[in-house]
Amino acid sequence: MTFLDDVIKLAKDHDATRPRSQQVSVGWSEVGGCRAYLGYRLDGAWPSDETDTWAAQRGTAIHAYLETVITGPGIRTEIDTEYRGIPGHADIVTTDALWDFKTTSLASSRMWAADHSLLRQKRVQIHGYAAGLVDAGELPPDATVGLLVVPVDGTFRDWWSYEEPFDRALADEGADRLQQVRDLMAAGEPLPKDKPLTWCSNWCPFASMCRGADDPQAAEEITDAELVAAVARYGETAQQITRLYKDKDGLAEMIRGLRGTAGEWRIGLSKAGEPKDVPDEAAIAADYAARGAALPMTTKPGNAPRLNVRRIRKAA
Ligand code: SF4
Repeated sequence: MTFLDDVIKLAKDHDATRPRSQQVSVGWSEVGGCRAYLGYRLDGAWPSDETDTWAAQRGTAIHAYLETVITGPGIRTEIDTEYRGIPGHADIVTTDALWDFKTTSLASSRMWAADHSLLRQKRVQIHGYAAGLVDAGELPPDATVGLLVVPVDGTFRDWWSYEEPFDRALADEGADRLQQVRDLMAAGEPLPKDKPLTWCSNWCPFASMCRGADDPQAAEEITDAELVAAVARYGETAQQITRLYKDKDGLAEMIRGLRGTAGEWRIGLSKAGEPKDVPDEAAIAADYAARGAALPMTTKPGNAPRLNVRRIRKAA
């Protein structure tokens, strides 16, 4: 084991002992997730896989730091709450508002900002927190409930927030969803596997137990809203890039050779490169052949599989 291995192990072990990592009850941060996962959690199943918890640990560390910074009269942090038997911890509670930090990648943050429907699971979570605090008299029924989105690979300019009045219906939507899972389990019905296999293999602690027999090469219908949006955004971006490259190449033919200024733009050509000597591969091969020697060869890895995202053509 290297020192780096030791450090990573210490970080993982520390995370595993945190109270939240050992939480037995299904919490508000989970109720909108995969229903098969909720079934394992309700069953108290022991994880079959060790997943990479770095992103979660990084989020926890940022939360902890910000909570020490955001202090002041009337501001409370890490407040326990419970609604319809589902526990949670609200990040920030003031006299009339509740806020939850969401640390994420800049790419995800931009996707959420462009399509607020992707926030539904997060909204259910924070309204679940708020419902418990409203019922406990710690927030007024007309409290503001919001998300503070903090991209971990962005700058302060990339932070943004989403807020709305407290809506108990959203909290009930989450609690009803968990009850639906309980009802399906009681009836012996299979629980929907709401995540695609690649996601499961990377992130779910029950992946081997749940999907160990599934073919990793098989195509499947992806239903998770955020992943559906990510595929669509990737496909649309790739299409735009292709169009932009075509435009750029077409315009280059028109303007190549111009020198000087054009409105706000300056145009010129870089200097042509100087000729340089390189090994003559044909002569080397001929020389080895003439001497009856085998050309020294090495093996280079094949290309990584290319990501292919294309819009499905609709039947005419
Ligand atoms: S492996 Fe995938 S489908 Fe199964 S419980 Fe985990 S997230 Fe859900």
